[in-house]
Amino acid sequence: MTPSTGGQTTGLFDDLRDLYQEVILDHGRKPRNFRRLEDATATARGDNPMCGDRIELFVALAPDGNIADAAFQGRGCAISTASASLMTETVKGKTAAQAKALGATFRELAMTGTCPDCGAELADEMERLAPLSGVHEFPSRVKCATLAWHTLNAALDGTKEASSE
Ligand code: ZN
Repeated sequence: MTPSTGGQTTGLFDDLRDLYQEVILDHGRKPRNFRRLEDATATARGDNPMCGDRIELFVALAPDGNIADAAFQGRGCAISTASASLMTETVKGKTAAQAKALGATFRELAMTGTCPDCGAELADEMERLAPLSGVHEFPSRVKCATLAWHTLNAALDGTKEASSE
């Protein structure tokens, strides 16, 4: 797997790549918020048949409309698990609309590796999700990374099912 950026790879990029890989492996092995949420107000199932990733997502919306808690269960590859883990951490405290906007931005990051529209407003969140930006080099893995976000949309929209297809 050679970098597609061309030219010379600097040590800084190697370090960043290693750091990103470490974050993905850590979240893949020890996913955060990996549990059933008994007080969930919205749930959905996500399916990525290309890879065999399946998740069940639980969201607890507070009366003020903010996401009070988010958790997931299921099984999938390290990327889908890490993405769901990072997502549940990132959307807590957000409104449904903010979480959806973040998901749209994340999908752009996963597909292109960059995020030109990320203003200062989303900088912290996108920095947290940045370890997954490397999937844009592997188109078949983009769906692994975006499955959790498709599933979040399904939960928030009340459609209950999300497929990466
Ligand atoms: Zn996968």
